[in-house]
Amino acid sequence: MFGGMQDYELRVPRLIDHAEREHGGREIVSYWADGTTTRTSWAGIARDARKLAQALEKLRVKRGDRVATLAMNHSRHLVAWYGAIGMGGVIHTINPRLFDEQLVYIANHAEDKVLLYDKVFQPIVDRLRTQWTSIEHYVCFDDRQFEEMIAREDGNYAWVEGPEREPCMLCYTSGTTGNPKGVLYEHRSSVIHALTEISPACFDLSTSSVALPIVPMFHAAAWGLPFASAIAGLKLVYSAVNDPTVLCTLMNEEKVTHSAGVPTVWLAMFQYMDATGKKPEHLKIVTIGGSAAPRAMIERLMRMGIRVGHAWGMTETSPIGTIGSPPAHWDELDFDAQVDLVCKQGRVPFGVELRVVNDDDEVQPRDGVSSGRLQIRGPWVIKRYFQDAAGDCIDRDAWFDTGDVAVLHPCGTMQITDRSKDVIKSGGEWISSVELENAAVGCAGVAEAAAIGVRHPKWDERPLLLVVRKEGSEVTADDIQTHLANHVAKWWLPDEILFVESLPHTATGKLLKTALREQYRDHQLATATAPPLAQA
Ligand code: AMP
Repeated sequence: MFGGMQDYELRVPRLIDHAEREHGGREIVSYWADGTTTRTSWAGIARDARKLAQALEKLRVKRGDRVATLAMNHSRHLVAWYGAIGMGGVIHTINPRLFDEQLVYIANHAEDKVLLYDKVFQPIVDRLRTQWTSIEHYVCFDDRQFEEMIAREDGNYAWVEGPEREPCMLCYTSGTTGNPKGVLYEHRSSVIHALTEISPACFDLSTSSVALPIVPMFHAAAWGLPFASAIAGLKLVYSAVNDPTVLCTLMNEEKVTHSAGVPTVWLAMFQYMDATGKKPEHLKIVTIGGSAAPRAMIERLMRMGIRVGHAWGMTETSPIGTIGSPPAHWDELDFDAQVDLVCKQGRVPFGVELRVVNDDDEVQPRDGVSSGRLQIRGPWVIKRYFQDAAGDCIDRDAWFDTGDVAVLHPCGTMQITDRSKDVIKSGGEWISSVELENAAVGCAGVAEAAAIGVRHPKWDERPLLLVVRKEGSEVTADDIQTHLANHVAKWWLPDEILFVESLPHTATGKLLKTALREQYRDHQLATATAPPLAQA
């Protein structure tokens, strides 16, 4: 009696089928660690993925089994994603920059069956092989092992079908404290997330785009780009090396229009540009996320005529939570106001919802002032960590607490003010460590800065600023204080500025504040003589 629509499970292999059928000739370029470049296409990736699926079945990988990778960005890694997922497996991308202890924990916890790895990570494999208890097969992503293995197959293979709610990918959070936790993505969540990503309000991808994702394939599902790129049928350019000379040269040779990466990537690129006078000539859109993009970076890219998409997300959110794009009144804003807007973390795409709650769990108004814990829900947001006995990690209404502190503006724009554990609590008021750091790196001569709360007898905590000078710079603490005074409230000014050679980072390039707090927690108690600035 009633009409209706077709059964069509939203499964990841449909993405590669589409790319092969509709954009089969569009190129996938890889720059390898040995300095060579190879070219394949979406059709080539699809063909090799089917062969890999056959090879994995011969290795007795079964539906739901985890197939791990320890690898940089290149076409074979992309083949591994689609091949492992296409045969019903779960691709588990391991971050090679983690400590040995974490690498052992993660692979054992995931019960990985096969490990595909880059030759550069052979030392890790040799070192940890005896401690990895579940891995039965090791395959190096080189010509001999990987290419010979798939060359033995005929590629005559039909993808495994099944429900869209089956898992397809596993990523562990970097975890600055405790053991890393696994986030299990599903076919459906990955497909919906990727469909959203190509829209103009997100990454703005289409078949005419040429994308060079600098974000590693082992970090937060490579921001979903391997999936979104297949939907768009764009040309992909991968580099297994994160060197600004290589990246800038590739961007110009391949006419790259879109790129995405964490802020540190662009810092290195700017240094290269300053030293050589070269620049990426064809870039139109750069997406920055993973940590707050400093104002000076956003401004410089925008002055080059590049649209900057400032994105916020986490492994637990697939990872896109918010992303900035020009609003309706963009052209009416002057340049400074445009930069101000891009410094905030953008808006939610359809699918996810945000709210901010205070310490009593009361929902805060979207007034651009009230800050609190940022919570999120939606079809690509985590419900429960992989194999976690603690149960679901969301509340009754499905809200997931992100651990970030944020403000929501009336227009829906979200602004991260801090990580809840990094906020500096001074005299009952909150000081944003992120804002202090961003203001500090805007001072000439400052390469990197970390603001942490250190114990104080009267104010509970006061800010201490650790600064790495740019090479050759002689910037002083007074210079930085004067600069900061123009950007933050007086009582936010750090009680002390210490110069250090370098700052510790997590495996995904974020400042490792826990280590800094441990080292400096009692610094002020030990050294402070002068009373802190009055809180006004
Ligand atoms: P990860 O799961 O390793 O990607 O880390 C997620 C965390 O990175 C978030 O909870 C934020 O604290 C931080 N983060 C990501 N993007 C941004 C951004 N644009 N601005 C500030 N913090 C960010």
